[in-house]
Amino acid sequence: MLFEEVKQQEQSYLMPTYGRFQVALVSGKGATAVDTEGKPYIDFGAGIGVNALGYCDPDWVEAVCGQAAALQHISNLYYNPVMTQLAETLCKQTGFSKVFFANSGAEANECAIKLARKYGVQAHGESCNRIVTLNNSFHGRTVTTLSATGQAGFHQYFTPFTEGFAYADPNLESVQAQVDQNTCAVMIELIQGEGGVCPLDKGFVQALAAFCKERDILLVVDEVQTGVGRTGKLYCYEHYGVQPDVITSAKGLGGGLPIGACLCTERLGAVMGAGMHGSTFGGNPVACAGALAVLKKITKPGFLEQVAQKGDYLREKLAAMDGIEEVRGIGMMLGARLKADNAKAVATACVENGLLVLTAKNMLRFLPPLTITQEELDKGLAILQETISNLQ
Ligand SMILES: *Cc1c(COP(=O)(O)O)cnc(C)c1O
Repeated sequence: MLFEEVKQQEQSYLMPTYGRFQVALVSGKGATAVDTEGKPYIDFGAGIGVNALGYCDPDWVEAVCGQAAALQHISNLYYNPVMTQLAETLCKQTGFSKVFFANSGAEANECAIKLARKYGVQAHGESCNRIVTLNNSFHGRTVTTLSATGQAGFHQYFTPFTEGFAYADPNLESVQAQVDQNTCAVMIELIQGEGGVCPLDKGFVQALAAFCKERDILLVVDEVQTGVGRTGKLYCYEHYGVQPDVITSAKGLGGGLPIGACLCTERLGAVMGAGMHGSTFGGNPVACAGALAVLKKITKPGFLEQVAQKGDYLREKLAAMDGIEEVRGIGMMLGARLKADNAKAVATACVENGLLVLTAKNMLRFLPPLTITQEELDKGLAILQETISNLQ
C-alpha cells in the first residue's frame, strides 16, 4: 500500500485524534525506519522513546517471537514465569521490592496513585488521599492521569475529572504551599518530557525528598519517559541521589511492546492486596519477554556508559549547531530550543529530508534508540543542520 492509500484509509476509518507527520512507516533496522515508498529515515524519536533497542534488534526479536510461539497469553489467574522473572530482574537491578505490571504509562501511574491513596488512608486516616503534582507535568490520558497532569489545557471536555490533585511549581516553597495534612504523595517527572524537556533542579529534588520523608508523604517518580537507560542510568532518579518510594516505568521497557510497571519499596510491598488492582493483559508473557531482552542488553557492563557518551556527543553537536539557542536534558533525552523558534516547521521539514525528530512545546526533542550508532547519529545531525539552515 502506498502513502496516499494509507492516508485515505485513515481519514475514512480512524477517529481523528492524532496530528501526524506525512509519512507511513512499514519496516526498520537499527535506528533507520523505512516508509511505504521505500524511503529510509534516521530515527531520532524511537517511537517516543519506546524502541530502546531500535528496530528489530535480533535478540529482542528472538525473545519475542520465541515467547509468542510458546505461549502468548495466560490470565492472571495462573502463575506466569516470564512475569516473575521480569519482576525479579527489575527488583534486583533497582533495589525496589515489589512490582505491578500494567500495559502503558498511564496505567502504571494509575497503580501508583491507587497505592499512594491506599497507603495514605491506612497510615494517616480516611481523608489522607490528596496528591501534589507539578505544573507543566504529563502523567497520561486516562481521566485520573489527566487530572494528575499539571497543565490546564488537558483539563477540558471530560469533566468531572478525578478530584484530589493540587499543582505546584518546581520549587520547595510552592510544593509546601500545596501540601496539607491530607497529602499522601508528591508525584514528579525528573525531566518533564512532554512539557518541553525540562530537568528538575537537583537541589530542589533532594530537598523535596527530605521534606516528603519527614512528613511521611510518598515520593512518586514518573519514570515512564526517563526510565530504562534513557538518561544513561537505568532510572533517572539515580542522577538525583534520592530514593523514591514508588517509580513508574513504561515506554522503553518493552522495547516496542506495550508494558507498564509500578515499583515500590519494601515497606509498601503489601499495600495493594488481593483483588484491589488488576489487568487482563498486565504482565503478558510476550511483552515481558521483550522487556527481559531489553533489560538484559542495557544492564550489560558498559552499555549505559555508552548511552551517556552518545548523549554527551549529541548534546555537544546540537549545542554547536547554527540556529540552536539552548540544549537541555540528560543522556539521550535532549531538547533543543531554536533561535528562529520554529521547532514544528523544522521537524516537518526534517521528515521530508529523511530524519524523524520529535517536538515538545517549542522544543525539538531527541529520544534516539539507545543502540544508535555513531554513523546514524552523524547522518541524522547532518540532515538536521541542513534543515535548520534552510529554514532560518
Ligand atoms: C508518555 C508518558 C506517560 C503516558 O504513557 P502512555 O503509555 O501513553 O499511557 C506518562 N508519563 C510520562 C512522563 C510520559 O512521558
